[in-house]
Amino acid sequence: MTAANPLIEASSPHVMNTYGRLPIALSHGQGCRVWDVNGKEYLDALGGIAVNTLGHNHPQLVPALQDQIGKLIHSCNYYHVPLQEALAKKLVELSGMTNVFFCSTGLEANEAALKLARKFGHDKGIERPEIVVYEKAFHGRSIATLSATGNPKVQAGFGPLVEGFIRVPINNIDSLKAATEGNPNVVAVFFEAIQGEGGVNAMHLDYLRDVRALCNERDWLMMVDEVQCGMGRTGKWFAHQWAGVVPDVMPLAKGLGSGVPVGAVVAGPKAAQIFQPGNHGTTFGGNPLAMRAGVETIRIMEADGLLENAARVGAHLSQGLAAALSAELASGAVREIRGQGLMIGVDLAKPCGALVQQCADQGLLISVTADTVIRLVPPLIMTEDEADEVISILCPLVKQLLQA
Ligand SMILES: *Cc1c(COP(=O)(O)O)cnc(C)c1O
Repeated sequence: MTAANPLIEASSPHVMNTYGRLPIALSHGQGCRVWDVNGKEYLDALGGIAVNTLGHNHPQLVPALQDQIGKLIHSCNYYHVPLQEALAKKLVELSGMTNVFFCSTGLEANEAALKLARKFGHDKGIERPEIVVYEKAFHGRSIATLSATGNPKVQAGFGPLVEGFIRVPINNIDSLKAATEGNPNVVAVFFEAIQGEGGVNAMHLDYLRDVRALCNERDWLMMVDEVQCGMGRTGKWFAHQWAGVVPDVMPLAKGLGSGVPVGAVVAGPKAAQIFQPGNHGTTFGGNPLAMRAGVETIRIMEADGLLENAARVGAHLSQGLAAALSAELASGAVREIRGQGLMIGVDLAKPCGALVQQCADQGLLISVTADTVIRLVPPLIMTEDEADEVISILCPLVKQLLQA
């Protein structure tokens, strides 16, 4: 569609050097396909890191956003924003929780959650509140959220870290109990229902139920970071819902606006009244364009059955990968294929970062996280045929890498 444009190159000498970028610059997309500035086509199994829920150039989302841009992009939180109420009402209905604060990114949603937890403690007379966090967690790159993150690489060079965190391993209720034994300052337990950056590691459903019970017993907030695993990706609106529990605080972002920056913190009754005027705020949070993106994303997801699609195509993709890599799974060269719905991790017994470029060369966008885990988080509109295509490009490259 587009010829090579000599003015657009895949290099950015004036942009700060914060990412290890591939030498690719994307130009436009349609559904699960994207094209680079040279016209090369890719199948998108990354979805902008679990962001492009509806894929690219969605025929209903785009006109809705165009309509909104022509009316009002940004107003201001000095005034009521009716679209905030519309999106909040929807999120409350889907989550079984009660109130929502809007921001623009995942770290901001998590930052708000951490502030909620601290004020929850202070309101109870706890002067130095402490929050339980997890090994391999990822919660963002602000000073507080990188302190909550369980990855030394994210923290290196940015000390002193924020204090008040207690770190425990995932899926071990005895460790959680031991680490908090007799500590009156604990106010919250904060974790991803399925860790994303940490390598697609799911909290077991029993563990989620045990944490819920412990939080009830000890009057702690159960705070579930659904920034990556939420918004329908696993086949339910929120990944913790597979356990039949309801958290007290739930940060969202990534897929909520299908690419428009939207973040949210959803709170249940225990946390919904903690913030009062003056306690928290953000200029862009809840602006009309962002809210319209959220409202339309959810409306289209419901109309098009995208939860069901994520579950069905996700299962098809996982099973197809397992079949194509059965010998490697048997030998242990592929340690595990895990995840739920369209959040899939393929854990190899050796580092596999090189696959990202190799797949791109063959027209497939993926990511690798935690060194050894191929992460697939495609748009929730992906079809079974497209999933088969992912398998047919990815698996031969995996086999080749494992044999090298
Ligand atoms: C991506 C991510 C974040 C951070 O979101 P940003 O929008 O990049 O700030 C936080 N938590 C989880 C689980 C994430 O996957």
